[in-house]
Amino acid sequence: MRKKAIYPGTFDPITNGHLDIVTRAARIFEQIILAISANPRKKTMFSVIERERLAQETVKHLPNISVIKYSNLLVNFAKEQKARILIRGLRTTSDLEYERQIASMNHYLSPDLESVFFMTTTQYTYLSSSLIKEVAQHGGDVQKLLPMPAYQALKLRLDMTINC
Ligand code: ADP
Repeated sequence: MRKKAIYPGTFDPITNGHLDIVTRAARIFEQIILAISANPRKKTMFSVIERERLAQETVKHLPNISVIKYSNLLVNFAKEQKARILIRGLRTTSDLEYERQIASMNHYLSPDLESVFFMTTTQYTYLSSSLIKEVAQHGGDVQKLLPMPAYQALKLRLDMTINC
């Protein structure tokens, strides 16, 4: 039971920073669920189905990672999945403050659930899905920052927007 971990997030879309964290986590835990949040209040570029497909294509070479979308409270999703570990990534001190608050709340809601933090690999410290989307929207080259399926989907989405 302890060896099953959940890596939750919005993944709009999955980036090389996310891939780095989940790949490292997959070497430590037996089974990882990359859990895509379907929170309808959060405005995303890609639908939850698209985000799920992009993540699936990105991690398909890693047999102990499965991709599942969820729309309920994360601690309840973790209970359903019989997982007791949550994985989160840390880039900056502002991530740390935010993550500390979320982890404390999750611990209050479900004391058996432990949050485990992975420090970002230095080269990905500045990567976030939102910054990548912003740069791409202004014509910046983000190809090396995204897994190929996510890059192609982003390019297609932006080309469609420009041509509309
Ligand atoms: P959320 O909207 O829940 O923050 P994200 O999809 O943006 O979801 O991120 C999911 C998790 O991955 C978070 O813990 C976030 O801090 C982490 N993360 C995102 N980008 C990176 C990165 N470049 N390096 C390390 N961790 C990252």
